Parts: sequence; C-alpha cells; structure tokens
Amino acid sequence: MGKKSIITIDGPAGAGKSTVSKALAKRLGYIYLDTGALYRALAYNALNLKTDLDDASALNDLCSTTSVILKNINGEMKVYVGGKDVGEKIRTEEVGLTASKISTFAIVRQSLLNLQREAGRNGGIVAEGRDMGSVVFPYADYKFYLDANVEERIIRRRKELLGKGLSAEYQIIQKDMMERDKQDSERAIAPLKPSADSIIIDSTGLSVFQVVEEIICRISKNTGRE
Ligand code: C5P
Repeated sequence: MGKKSIITIDGPAGAGKSTVSKALAKRLGYIYLDTGALYRALAYNALNLKTDLDDASALNDLCSTTSVILKNINGEMKVYVGGKDVGEKIRTEEVGLTASKISTFAIVRQSLLNLQREAGRNGGIVAEGRDMGSVVFPYADYKFYLDANVEERIIRRRKELLGKGLSAEYQIIQKDMMERDKQDSERAIAPLKPSADSIIIDSTGLSVFQVVEEIICRISKNTGRE
C-alpha cells in the first residue's frame, strides 16, 4: 500500500466497525472517521429542539441551522455541534434510533455528504458507516463490509453501553437493533448493503485483533481497487 488510501468499513450496528476501524487507523497511521457520529449529532440536536422527525421541512431547517464540524484530534475526527464536542451524549440507544430515523431523509444525507468527502480528500483515512463504499467514497481503494450474527452484535452493543455507564437491557437493545437494521437496510436512499466490490468479513467469534489482521492481510494481498 504505497499511497495514502481510502479504506471504507460498512456494516450493521454492533458488527464491531468502530473498534476495528479505530484500531486499523491507528495501526496504519490513518485518520479515523466515524460517520454514524455525524447522524447522531444531528439526531441529538433534533431531540433537544423537539424537531418533528417525520417532517422533511422541519428536518431541512434542522440541517441548515445546526453547525456540525469535524476536528482532527489525535487522528480521530471528532464531531462538534454548535462549537461543542458532543462526545458521549450521542451514544445512547435513543439517539441511535433517532439517527436511523432521520437518516432516511435525502436532505439529511445530503447535508452531511460534503463534510464526509472533505475529510477523505487527502486519503489516509478509515471511514466507517453504512454507505461509505457505496455512496460517499465509491472510488475508495479498499472496501470492507463487516457483519456478525445478531446475538453477538447485541452482546457487543451491551458491553459497549455498559462500559460507558449507560443503560443496557438485552431485550431493549435487541428490539432497537432489529428496528434499526430494518430501517437502515430498507430505506430508499443509501440503504445498508454490501456494495458489489466490497470484501465481506464475518466477525462472529473473532477478536478485534483477528479482524484487523484479516483486513491488513487482504490489503497487503492488494485485493482492493488500488
Ligand atoms: O454507526 P452508528 O450506529 O453510530 O450510526 C447511527 C445511525 O446513523 C445508523 O443506524 C444509521 O441509520 C445512520 N448512519 C447512516 N449512514 C452512515 C452512518 C450512520 O445512515 N454512513
């Protein structure tokens, strides 16, 4: 891998995208971009402002009045809303579900597109989300789609939430995840699905280290588009 590539990692909630993408970016000395955080940031603001989540025009106003910017803090693109680092506040299940709901609207997706592309302008980035390989970076050098079975995804999400001191009841996570999976994969615009040119990795039963090794191995075999 000579030049600084764009590596995309898409997949459903709880597939291990964030942990793997962060570890991969660190290993390669690349920037890590969590695009879910952008949708969560808008959702967080929508909840605070009590925006009608079914009203495209209200969401249009939300997008045009919410200042969302990315700052590179030690190789990680952090999301700032209205000048403030929204940090862990956007990590709740409620914000995740709201993000999934508003991300079905074209206006919301469009409002975040340039920001994401700008972050990848110079390459050297690991971008994770749902439509990284299909819409945001269709010309990416390496595209991965990370999946895992539902039980493992629920357990991982539960661990993550508990680790952040957030409430994490198995049945609630299961219900929210099913709803989010359905919404994300059935939406008309940029639905969650592996693009034809992505490498699918099933991370069920694998450690973060093993998944990162698998990705590095695929990259060094040059199985991407470079
Ligand atoms: O990745 P995360 O679970 O934080 O994303 C929250 C929600 O944001 C997802 O369920 C999805 O609906 C939306 N999202 C998206 N496109 C992306 C990243 C996230 O639609 N690239």
